[in-house]
Amino acid sequence: MTHVPSSVVIIGGGVGGVGTAAALRAGGFAGELTLVEAAEVPYDRPPLSKAYLAGEQDLADIALQPPDWYDDQGVRLVTGETVTALRPDERLVELSTGRTLAADTLVLATGGHAARPPLPGVDSPLVHVLRDHDEADRLRSALVLGARLLVVGGGLIGAEAASTAAELGVEVTLIDPAPIPLELAVGAEVGAWLHARHAEHGISTKQAALVSIEDKGTVVLATIQDDPEPLEFDAVLLGVGMRPETTLAETIGLEVDRGIIVDAEQRTSHPWVLAVGDATRRRSNGVLRPRAEHWEAAQHDGQRAAATLLGTAQPTPTAPWFWTDRHGLHIESVGHMNEATDRVLRGTPGDGPFSAWGLRDGTVVAAVSVDDPNAVRAARRMIDRGVTVSATALADVSTDLKHLLRTSR
Ligand SMILES: Cc1cc2nc3c(=O)[nH]c(=O)nc-3n(C[C@H](O)[C@H](O)[C@H](O)COP(=O)(O)OP(=O)(O)OC[C@H]3O[C@@H](n4cnc5c(N)ncnc54)[C@H](O)[C@@H]3O)c2cc1C
Repeated sequence: MTHVPSSVVIIGGGVGGVGTAAALRAGGFAGELTLVEAAEVPYDRPPLSKAYLAGEQDLADIALQPPDWYDDQGVRLVTGETVTALRPDERLVELSTGRTLAADTLVLATGGHAARPPLPGVDSPLVHVLRDHDEADRLRSALVLGARLLVVGGGLIGAEAASTAAELGVEVTLIDPAPIPLELAVGAEVGAWLHARHAEHGISTKQAALVSIEDKGTVVLATIQDDPEPLEFDAVLLGVGMRPETTLAETIGLEVDRGIIVDAEQRTSHPWVLAVGDATRRRSNGVLRPRAEHWEAAQHDGQRAAATLLGTAQPTPTAPWFWTDRHGLHIESVGHMNEATDRVLRGTPGDGPFSAWGLRDGTVVAAVSVDDPNAVRAARRMIDRGVTVSATALADVSTDLKHLLRTSR
């Protein structure tokens, strides 16, 4: 029988940490539950490159839970303080104010930071990153009508922020060294089609890397690979990935390798500590997986951590999923497109909703949809059940996906 802890402290109030707290209470955890978050309030990050950056939402709008939720759920919320040290032998965590909290079990949900590549000039105050709400606030104040913004990186966050900035009347240049940003995640056809939408919205795109930045006080000069002359911008946004926050884990000797290593039940290498979300990497079947870095994955980690602590059945695994929005398009993706040997297009890009499916020997392994979330929902069921489909039937938009799901094996 599992020994259910009498007190749990969760460090980090992103979707991973709050999701763990919610899943623990939903699963019947009756012990003491404390959530420590460095920011003023536990908040959600996806809006930071979308409606929040556009100025359509404020911090209260993107709070992960309403203020009463914590009292209602019996979650002791400690905000505006960071955990600065862990004392595993005494089962204590130290806060920045000098206070300590006792914890039978600890859940690290510390997320990460936006990466800054080690290039000359990237520490200039005119060079922005986007992970936290204060970084979004600073970037937003630079997005004034007619400002010239260089976005470095055409992946999820770079593309979303570029789209939001263009909508605000900012003159955006987007560079990425990859010929098709997001190709691995969504496949070449959809990746190229999505990237081409930037130009339609007045964004100038270029396949190139940033070489250096020179801060000129109110503007920067950006040297871009293969450009003879540096270009002048009012601001730069680096959208080049994240760095997991593993400091606390490292100080107590947890196994860390570009993420806190966890098993399928979110256990770390120390029996006192579980870890969830963007700060982690899973080892499964002896293989270290890449960090998931998506909202739903962090939430599912929280559900798994809660099941582990409560000794209840683990949730049924499901194919990884994420969404992203740009230029008024809603994109969803499920599965692993890079594992597909064949890709099938359902619908016509540019002519209403469409989806692209990845098959491997006829079995559905991935799908990505533009304005067609039902397609991805159906694809997820097919991936989870290992369904084999006819590519011809799939490509025919008159084929009902539910029917296809029922009649395929
Ligand atoms: C701009 C942006 C847009 C995104 N858009 C999408 C999207 O459209 N779709 C999608 O699927 N995913 C999206 N994501 C990814 C998604 O937001 C993350 O996967 C998710 O936030 C991960 O949750 P987390 O709880 O692991 O980490 P985080 O959300 O990073 O939360 C970690 C929290 O821990 C706190 N913390 C860290 N150390 C300490 C400490 N020592 N003491 C106290 N508190 C601490 C931090 O303050 C932070 O709030 C986006 C991310 C960003 C940044």
